[in-house]
Amino acid sequence: MGIFSIFYHKHKSHLMDLSYILNELGEERASYFNAVAPPIMQTSNFACRRVDDMRKLFENEYSGYLYSRGLNPTVDILRKKLAALDDAEDCLVFNSGASAIYAAVTANVSAGDHIVSVSKPYTWAQKLFNDLLPRFGVNTTYVDGTAIEHFERAVLPNTKIIYLETPNSWNFALQDLAAVAELARAEGILTICDNSYCTPIYQKPLGLGIDLSLQSATKYIGGHSDVVAGVLCGTTAMMQKIFDNEFGTAGLGVTPFHAWLLIRGLRTLPMRLQKISENTRQVLHFLKAHPKVEDILFPFDESFPQYGLAKKQMQGACGLLSFYLDVKKIEDIVTFCESLKHILMAVSWGGYESLIIPGCASVKEKDYDITKKSQRMLRLYVGQEEPEYIINDLSQALNNI
Ligand SMILES: *Cc1c(COP(=O)(O)O)cnc(C)c1O
Repeated sequence: MGIFSIFYHKHKSHLMDLSYILNELGEERASYFNAVAPPIMQTSNFACRRVDDMRKLFENEYSGYLYSRGLNPTVDILRKKLAALDDAEDCLVFNSGASAIYAAVTANVSAGDHIVSVSKPYTWAQKLFNDLLPRFGVNTTYVDGTAIEHFERAVLPNTKIIYLETPNSWNFALQDLAAVAELARAEGILTICDNSYCTPIYQKPLGLGIDLSLQSATKYIGGHSDVVAGVLCGTTAMMQKIFDNEFGTAGLGVTPFHAWLLIRGLRTLPMRLQKISENTRQVLHFLKAHPKVEDILFPFDESFPQYGLAKKQMQGACGLLSFYLDVKKIEDIVTFCESLKHILMAVSWGGYESLIIPGCASVKEKDYDITKKSQRMLRLYVGQEEPEYIINDLSQALNNI
């Protein structure tokens, strides 16, 4: 397919690649007054000079600019960069990570089909599998993704998709991407991986044989807690199939302004991940040594059960970790969270600010049960503040209980 694939390059040196992708790929500065930063093409529609041009766009809207629910030049700059980062032929950018999941899955199933999903994927993926798809005759089996045999046993003759999320953003459970991809290929099953935790900087699912890689761009790509968006990467044929159906029908595309913010976010992505990695290392060190911390989950920690696999398929890990407090009652966890002076109690992650979510916020107060490990869990996002600022805040809050 024309305009997009011209910009698809295979680069050689990784460092060169990354700078080229982030600085130049997709940018056509000469066509907009040599502006260094790209324009926001804030238009709903595009004019045609000739009837024949309009006819071609009506025949195939994926071939050019007709209407911004479809393609838009600012969004295209972003698409080229995101596809290249994932080593993908093509990419679509969505108005949320959830809509990227929705489109990737629904485009590839029909009534009577079956999905195998790793257990406990992102909440809205679970809602799709549990509540929405069964109304259309599509059912899902969840498997513990830590062993390949679990996938082998769950596959049925009508299985169309294996859905993965590695690492999981709560418990960081991994799936062996190369092994699942091999199994799926042999059975003619499509594989989809939610790569929000790693971003393509730290993990490239397509390089390991996965068919579709998706991310919540709300997290690290946006990087400033101010955009909700999603990315889906794969072949041009698959992107066109989704564009022609789910993407256009439900109007799932990102707006030009949000695309512009995401291009801006991409410029500093590698640097932000580096800073967050260094902060995470220091926070992990502090928490591991603290007597009130019972246990820690982080994929690049040597004590992590799947540390070997993490090192094998991921180039890095940072930001998100979970820990358990050694306390006698849930109220102590509430006190800890409410004593934090700088770390914000909030969902999401990937921005500047460190954030925390207590597991006990998911249960009613009358159901508090200290013997349940999931209620003692805290998920921390280590942001980009100075490490002492984060550690001092955790320390004073721990001293309060
Ligand atoms: C946040 C998130 C999503 C959903 O993305 P939104 O941009 O919030 O719609 C999907 N998967 C994971 C792992 C996430 O953390």
